[in-house]
Amino acid sequence: MLNGKTALVTGSTSGIGLGIARSLAAQGANILFNGFGDAGQIEALHNGVAQEFGIKTAYHNADMSKPAEIEAMMKFADERFGGVDVLVNNAGIQHVANVEDFPVDRWDAIIAINLSSAFHTTRLALPGMKKKNWGRVINIASVHGLVGSAGKSAYVAAKHGIVGFTKVTALENAHSGVTCNAICPGWVLTPLVQKQVDDRAAREGTSVEQAKKALLSEKQPSGEFVTPEELGALAVFFCSPAADQVRGVAWNMDGGWAAQ
Ligand code: NAD
Repeated sequence: MLNGKTALVTGSTSGIGLGIARSLAAQGANILFNGFGDAGQIEALHNGVAQEFGIKTAYHNADMSKPAEIEAMMKFADERFGGVDVLVNNAGIQHVANVEDFPVDRWDAIIAINLSSAFHTTRLALPGMKKKNWGRVINIASVHGLVGSAGKSAYVAAKHGIVGFTKVTALENAHSGVTCNAICPGWVLTPLVQKQVDDRAAREGTSVEQAKKALLSEKQPSGEFVTPEELGALAVFFCSPAADQVRGVAWNMDGGWAAQ
């Protein structure tokens, strides 16, 4: 379905981004990977995906907190692939602390990586998408783009922000073939959440398995983690012709979290 198209997935060296990149690759899209990690492992990862799905891949190491590096990555995408057809704004970090104790540098980093980076990639990708009259911007928000949780002020602010940004981008492009939507996952067991599980186990003196159960039972009625593959399937749907009129939504896949 996406043969000949190129997807840039920010933060795709791990977790949800990697799952979505693999799902888009399975549909024939070339993939530009981005994110942190060991250079050798990233090289092996993207070459492996290229081989597995018979597509082209590349990697750019832009730090998503740095607008100049994002600009360099978008230029690289133009030169290497002739632009970005599917932009998945996924890179994100977390920090948990109450407002009065929240480190200022963590606030600034979360707003830069989880929110402002999507503005920069999107503003630079849109002209090419509009020229082709086809494009998909998919923002990986969170159920925290819809509801709050104590201790996550920066994250919740950034995720609510990206849901708003999604709506405006969808509206500004409503008369074109460019759509913009957000995906709002509940708990997904990635390194970002594993850290919260480990912290909880240490704090409460329980096993990691007990901490996982406690985490889920608090918020996610299904009691099951969402998977990167399930989120990848939703991203593929957003890219399909059936989703041509899906514009500006914040679609939660959260085991019932936001239904409560
Ligand atoms: P993860 O830690 O597994 O992956 C994050 C990715 O972002 C990695 O590839 C990392 O290298 C990259 N990254 C981090 N900082 C970066 C920077 N400055 N520049 C470039 N890349 C950077 O996390 P994840 O759980 O897969 O999270 C991915 C997205 O999904 C995030 O936006 C997160 O907020 C969101 N999300 C996660 C969950 C969850 O339960 N895991 C739930 C809802 C939303």
